[in-house]
Amino acid sequence: MGVLTSHFNLKAMKNEKTVRCSLCGKEFTDEEIEGVMKCPNCGTKSLPCAISDDVEIKINWHELRILVIWAENWARKCDAEESDREEKMMLSIMTIAERLQRQFPEKTKLTLFGEVRELRKEYNIETNIDDDKLLGL
Ligand SMILES: [Zn+2]
Repeated sequence: MGVLTSHFNLKAMKNEKTVRCSLCGKEFTDEEIEGVMKCPNCGTKSLPCAISDDVEIKINWHELRILVIWAENWARKCDAEESDREEKMMLSIMTIAERLQRQFPEKTKLTLFGEVRELRKEYNIETNIDDDKLLGL
C-alpha cells in the first residue's frame, strides 16, 4: 500500500461514523462528537451506542415484534408516569424499531403504533388523534 493510498484510507476512516445516538438514532464520526457532552442532533446526554458493537442476530420476526411491542408499551407507561422527564423513552424505542424496520420494510410493522397508523391509512380512517398523542409524546 502506497503512501497516497494509506492517506486516503486514513481520511476515509476519519469520516467513518463511529457512534449512534441512543435517542434519535443519528450517527456521528469521532470528529463530529469530539469534546461534546450531548448529542449534537437532539441534545440528549444519554450514552450513545458504539457502532462497532452492532451485531447481526438470528431472530424470528414475530419474536422481534413481541419484544418491540412490549418495549413500546412499557415506554408509553413510563413516559406517562414520569411526564415531567425531559427525554421520552418512547422516542428511543421508536427510533430503534424504525432502524430495524428499514432493514425489512416489507414485513409487518414492528410497533403497534406503526400497525395502527398503517391500518388507518389502508382503510382511510380519519381520526382527531394526532400521531404524537398516539405515541404518548
Ligand atoms: Zn440524538
